[in-house]
Amino acid sequence: MRPEILYQLFSPATRLNGIGPRTGALIEKLAGPNIVDLLWHLPSGLLTRERVDHLSADYLERQIVIRVTVEQHFPSRNRRAPYRISTRAGGDALTLTYFNGREQYLRQQLPEGAERLVSGRLEEYGGAYQMTHPDHVAPIEAADSIPLNEPVYPLTAGLVNATFVKAARQFLATLPELPEWLDPALLAREKWPGWKESLLAAHHPRSEEDLARDAPARARLAYDELLANQLALELVRRRMKRKPGRAMAGDGRLYDKIKSALPYRLTGAQMQALTEITGDMAAPHRMLRLLQGDVGSGKTVVALLAMAVAVETGAQATLMAPTEILARQHFNAIQPLAETAGLKTEIITGRLKGKKRSEVLERLEQGKIDIVVGTHALFQEDVRFHDLGLAIIDEQHRFGVHQRLRLSAKGREGGGVDVLVMTATPIPRTLALTAYGDMDISVIAEKPPGRQPVETRAIDLSRLDSVAEGLERKLAAGERIYWVCPLVEESQLLDVAAAEERFEMLQHLYGDRVGLIHGRQKPEEKDETMRRFMAGEISILVATTVIEVGVDVPEATVMIIEHAERFGLAQLHQLRGRVGRGQLPGVCLLLYAPPLGATQKARLAILRESEDGFRIAEEDLRLRGAGELLGTKQSGLPEFRLADLQAHSRLLAIARDDARLILEKDPELKSPRGIALKFLLYLFERDAAIQNLSG
Ligand code: ADP
Ligand code: MG
Repeated sequence: MRPEILYQLFSPATRLNGIGPRTGALIEKLAGPNIVDLLWHLPSGLLTRERVDHLSADYLERQIVIRVTVEQHFPSRNRRAPYRISTRAGGDALTLTYFNGREQYLRQQLPEGAERLVSGRLEEYGGAYQMTHPDHVAPIEAADSIPLNEPVYPLTAGLVNATFVKAARQFLATLPELPEWLDPALLAREKWPGWKESLLAAHHPRSEEDLARDAPARARLAYDELLANQLALELVRRRMKRKPGRAMAGDGRLYDKIKSALPYRLTGAQMQALTEITGDMAAPHRMLRLLQGDVGSGKTVVALLAMAVAVETGAQATLMAPTEILARQHFNAIQPLAETAGLKTEIITGRLKGKKRSEVLERLEQGKIDIVVGTHALFQEDVRFHDLGLAIIDEQHRFGVHQRLRLSAKGREGGGVDVLVMTATPIPRTLALTAYGDMDISVIAEKPPGRQPVETRAIDLSRLDSVAEGLERKLAAGERIYWVCPLVEESQLLDVAAAEERFEMLQHLYGDRVGLIHGRQKPEEKDETMRRFMAGEISILVATTVIEVGVDVPEATVMIIEHAERFGLAQLHQLRGRVGRGQLPGVCLLLYAPPLGATQKARLAILRESEDGFRIAEEDLRLRGAGELLGTKQSGLPEFRLADLQAHSRLLAIARDDARLILEKDPELKSPRGIALKFLLYLFERDAAIQNLSG
């Protein structure tokens, strides 16, 4: 339960004066529903006003506060003309101009003959001084009500800055007193203020420096957020580790058989990953490990060998893929090798039905199947293992983080299942720490030898016809071609229309050698097209991005991507990874629509220069920011409100060490600092992590 002292912060923002239901809805979209969300909605700018006692051309376009005597109101005669009020300021005339001004209100604010302080930007109009929509009008004695420094908040259409200023004034006045959760030594070293002071300072910037990410108040708040994230992950991780695992040390009999049946030698990086994985499996704690390897780095065989080790110890193993196509591909790759070692394999997907299904499920439960490959269908209630020891999940970000644990729940009562997550998305180290900080990480950074580099070219979209016509040569040589159609924002329907159009055009040129695959087809239809492409019955595959992940067709040598400028860098890299997997060199043509912006240019250039997924991901992060990198929602990466992973990467590293040390010393967060840290976790809504404390 959230502590009572935080109740107010977690009440709706509409509780504040000046935020009604309509404004509240806009604020919710921009910042979040509760007052606490406004706390983290920090100013992005600073408006500075000068008190002046006369007008002068020097002040034009500057924000000033000046004393005026109101002379006369000139209400607008028609809807387009503004409402004007003539005043005298010092020795000069100053016109106050309002568009859509309401007479009654303005006469009350600025009665003729009265003296007032007004603030706003000084302009010149028709040879006279003018101020449009003064942002403050105050009686002379209320000069203090016009601040000389005003924070400027990030806004969205329909919201005005004053709403946030007013809201901040209210919540800052009633912030609770919370015990300090940061290490005093760290505070002293970084010269950071306390939590409350930091919020006050961050919402009241006095200079441009105060707005910088490394300004003490902002850095402290960012650190708080990072620490909450790391602490939460560390709590989950400790909980996982605390669950009894099983020591699965194989005798090598199946492992060796499969290894010697491989038509190639494992790379050093694959061996290294296997050593780490089998080391974890042999240890009595639970494994929770991420295997990162660029496309084509050979993760599947690593998965198979790990599963063989589990089977050697008498357990079962499962490999789960995000799509039917991928599950089948894994199954086809694994089955022959597994069978040479005498292992029984099966595949369970949504399409396994009726008698066949019940028969497979029965054998699985009886332990007559050693390895089962599948899709989400594996989560189904009636899929029961005899003794699941190892669960491998491929392409993590398609599943979402919380699903990590669901498969492992299929293990025997009390016997923890080791979990290995595989991802082909090279996640920059900084991000990996925030999203997968609860896991140990193995990286396959080297590709199998003999891979040909993929030649990457950026081509103006206007040359599409000649690109299409030029494919004949490749086809004659028996090579296969992917043609990926533009990603149309937010609309699968439009994606499909574009793909269909391209399909027809290519069919015109190459007849029935062309196939089409897109997200709105039935799974059976997709599989059939994919099968025909793999078998060489069709040679050009027009696709929307459904082919993005993991498909392995060694004869594919050409990847054409239309409107490459609309794709994310990581995604383009994934797509390119589909070619050049066999012995033939690959070509990747990035068709772009000019003119390209500077960032778009830079992104395509990186792709031309590098085939190193990790480098590309780092550059992508630098160019776009973490949130956009993988599409935060589908990637399961956390969104940060205050921390900027690029600017605060040093703080992230400190937070990680800090979190480990804290829980090392105080695993249940019971010490005074531990209790304070619970407030931190609640503030950043890591309530779920707190649940991990007791249990
Ligand atoms: P990914 O990591 O993208 O899943 P895969 O496991 O699909 O990569 O492997 C890509 C291709 O490389 C497969 O055809 C596989 O047989 C092959 N492969 C894997 N390991 C090696 C190796 N050590 N030497 C040569 N080829 C390998
Ligand atoms: Mg793969």
